Amino acid sequence: MTMIDATHDPALTSWVPGADGHADFPIQNLPYGIFSIGDGEKRPAVAIGDKLLDLSAVSGLLPVELRGATLNALFALPAERRLALRRKLSELLSEDNHRPALTPYLHDRSAVTMHLPAAIGDYTDFYVGIHHANNIGRQFRPDNPLLPNYKYVPIGYHGRASSIRPSGVPLVRPKGQRKPPEADVPVVAPSARLDYELELGVWIGRGNALGETIPIGEAADHIAGFCLLNDWSARDFQAWEYQPLGPFLAKNFQSTISPWVVTAEALAPFRIAQPERPEGDPKPLPYLWDADDQGRGALGIELGVHLLTAKMREAGLPPHRLSKGPASNMYWTVAQIVTHHASNGCNLQPGDLLGTGTISAPSEDGFGSLMELSRGGTQPVKLPNGEERSFLQDGDEVLLSATARADGYVPIGFGECRAVVLPAR
Ligand code: MN
Repeated sequence: MTMIDATHDPALTSWVPGADGHADFPIQNLPYGIFSIGDGEKRPAVAIGDKLLDLSAVSGLLPVELRGATLNALFALPAERRLALRRKLSELLSEDNHRPALTPYLHDRSAVTMHLPAAIGDYTDFYVGIHHANNIGRQFRPDNPLLPNYKYVPIGYHGRASSIRPSGVPLVRPKGQRKPPEADVPVVAPSARLDYELELGVWIGRGNALGETIPIGEAADHIAGFCLLNDWSARDFQAWEYQPLGPFLAKNFQSTISPWVVTAEALAPFRIAQPERPEGDPKPLPYLWDADDQGRGALGIELGVHLLTAKMREAGLPPHRLSKGPASNMYWTVAQIVTHHASNGCNLQPGDLLGTGTISAPSEDGFGSLMELSRGGTQPVKLPNGEERSFLQDGDEVLLSATARADGYVPIGFGECRAVVLPAR
């Protein structure tokens, strides 16, 4: 696991106007992404304040060759080479003598298009938010919310990589098969119970060969970075289709991610101890147990969800916060889910994306989905302008946010993860 160094120094400042004190991207963050201007080619960049630096244009100054339309090659590098790149960028963007040479390659982030940061070979979604698992489990199986495997197995399913989109790409309400409780046979119709899921995404760095595993003590070295992930879910389709094989069309119609990759290196100061398991819960099996991972394998990140309805937008109202809570409400660490995924010899590859599963806090001000906030649609959420929501309506925009905080360090954020719901086609 990477260490705290001069790149995290809270006294470090940048010559880029507006970067110091920026809520998401001060110089201590330095997240990577892929951008284009107009119809221009896709290129790698690092975000700094409200700007980005075109890394392909300054490649000669960097210790790592960075070109092309994806970050897969960067993810695949050994951790020490990624660290060397971070240290060089920190120096270039903080030392004033680099300003004249680099200024021509800074762009306003508001003027560019952001793309998926990687060619995503595979996407797997886990279910490690234990309060979410309890809340949802209770709605689907009132007498049996948490199945007995939950505390032994980091539960997951294979999702769909092709329908992942970066922040800002609208979501078309999916159509599908659902069976209303009073009906004898299912109907095919637009989802009437469209929901979001607040998750963190984990970008896989160095992979493992087919047939080989990733020991828990090495798992952190296989994680390149993190993003926000909205795992849009059609709860009506889900309830009808999920047994016996798990989620399918209820979740693969689109997932939205934040386009900036907050690196594992940037998050070094924000690692915290994995919360103790409740009395009586089993200790993780040995292949999932690592003392160092337990000591600092969790993330000191505050997560939030905001909603902006069409009416609110028309009235010029700001987005309304639906919930906020810490990312530490995960029953398994990210290292544990990586190790578990490869434990049967399944090969992870650079640019694979893992979702943590919905992260809910124990209390309702931190619930990570509308399904939980509205108690399965029975208690609509009241919005400040008088509107109510049990599930998402057309025109609604969902905005996820994440900020990493630790005493003595400059907070860093994840940037935007937002998308508006369009009517079914
Ligand atoms: Mn999910």
